[in-house]
Amino acid sequence: LPWFKNVPSAPADPILGVTEAFKKDTNPNKINLGVGAYRDDQGKPFVLRAVREAEQQIVDARLDKEYSTITGVPEFSPLAAKLAFGENSEVIRDGRVFTTQSISGTGALRIGGQFVEKFIQSKTLYYPTPTWANHLPVFRNSGLTILPYRYYNKSTLGFDAAGALEDISRMPEGSVILLHACAHNPTGVDPTKDQWKELSRVLKDRKILPFFDMAYQGFASGDVDDDAFALRYFIEQGHNVLVAQSFAKNMGLYGERVGALSIVCDSAEEVSRVGSQMKIIIRPMISMPPLHGARIASRILNDPSLKQSWLEDVKLMADRIKSMRAALKEGLKAEGSIRDWEHITNQIGMFCFTGITEEQVQKLIKNHSVYLTNDGRISISGINTGNVGYLAKALHDVTK
Ligand code: PLP
Repeated sequence: LPWFKNVPSAPADPILGVTEAFKKDTNPNKINLGVGAYRDDQGKPFVLRAVREAEQQIVDARLDKEYSTITGVPEFSPLAAKLAFGENSEVIRDGRVFTTQSISGTGALRIGGQFVEKFIQSKTLYYPTPTWANHLPVFRNSGLTILPYRYYNKSTLGFDAAGALEDISRMPEGSVILLHACAHNPTGVDPTKDQWKELSRVLKDRKILPFFDMAYQGFASGDVDDDAFALRYFIEQGHNVLVAQSFAKNMGLYGERVGALSIVCDSAEEVSRVGSQMKIIIRPMISMPPLHGARIASRILNDPSLKQSWLEDVKLMADRIKSMRAALKEGLKAEGSIRDWEHITNQIGMFCFTGITEEQVQKLIKNHSVYLTNDGRISISGINTGNVGYLAKALHDVTK
């Protein structure tokens, strides 16, 4: 029988599609600013020193490949939680945090979404506009109703605090809100500390449950503790929260798929109930998360000298990104651009929301072989000292 005759072709993934088009381009000056993965100044993928070392130790230890547990490599979850919540976290000390290993950040969002669908009556999650494109299908596939709230102000190219607060004031009690813990993707725009405090207060008043997506801890400021400010502040203020962590960017473990989901509960007894349900969610989906990447991350987090080396490399990556932001802004000025490009250095994290139009994006691709997503987002990690001049010229050309 022609079983699959009626299967229609689906559209390509908007982000991965950019890389496909880039690969086909034969221009030697082509630049890929689509993909959200760190590159060094030679444009090469970067494997962190601590990762190489931890991996070698694992190979040397000749560990077995037995099944892990439903919540992953046992030593991993407490270490991941400590990284997110802090060395002296009260909620960890009180046994109020459930944590499980997950299939990177995406898997954490997906099982967290499923937990919300099963146990939070409203089954409604509010997401910032814009947000990482994959958030929408991840939460939709979890069975949630997803609704937008205002986040980015196109005219100021900054955080729309007034719009966000107004939208929050209309969210029904008992809803869930998705917050990017730091280095908002795709805009590179984060609330200030004072704005986070205001958000915390209003969300608490409105009885809204925060779901933090922390995919870039360390990548925004170069310091993992500074980048956890919002999450830790919310917890200090007594919020129960869900947190999805990814080690893709900050440890460069992209394809190893290392992440964690934590849920801050009211008591140790609640952690036990929540944990028992999370296992029931995870088991039929993936049975259990994989070993290798979590072993690497555990070694790094558990060994003071590996951890030190890792933190240095996190800072190195964040600093290179900051210096490329500055170089791009300077380059545009040197080309004679009279546009205001301050936002390039005001924004943080891997991405810059350039504010250029879709038409200008198409010109960049067609006329200059500079590849990016239609929303005008560029991944700063694709920029290096060798191509920043070419990029500034191209960007000026399509915006003058
Ligand atoms: N959340 C955000 C905002 C992201 O940008 C990403 C990756 O680009 C992820 C989550 C998940 O990434 P991964 O599943 O590779 O950890």
